[in-house]
Amino acid sequence: MYEISVRAAFEAAHFIDGYDGKCSRLHGHNWIVEAVVRGDKLDSLGMLIDFKILKAELNKILDEFDHRFLNDLESFTTENPTAENIARKIFRKLAASEIFSESTKLHAVKVQETPHSCVTYYE
Ligand SMILES: [Zn+2]
Repeated sequence: MYEISVRAAFEAAHFIDGYDGKCSRLHGHNWIVEAVVRGDKLDSLGMLIDFKILKAELNKILDEFDHRFLNDLESFTTENPTAENIARKIFRKLAASEIFSESTKLHAVKVQETPHSCVTYYE
């Protein structure tokens, strides 16, 4: 079994509605997102999946969030844009991509909100 990952980043503002503390105020983060792919079959070049293709697909999804006020996005009309919810939304969108196959699947999405805080979502 192979496991590969790519990282991408986006910058955005948010606040956590109902939170008792600083995070209830408008603020921003430089989120770092890592997509982790697992599989056991390599292609004819010896690759599980082309890093470049995986990164392009991840960046396409992150475009929705980049330089936005997350609470205003349709994705977060019914729930807070926490790192947990962001990770799940990115996972579901990316997992639906045609770049994956029966033998090469998205395993997890990690969302790092600060250098010391990271969420991992997988199904
Ligand atoms: Zn925050």
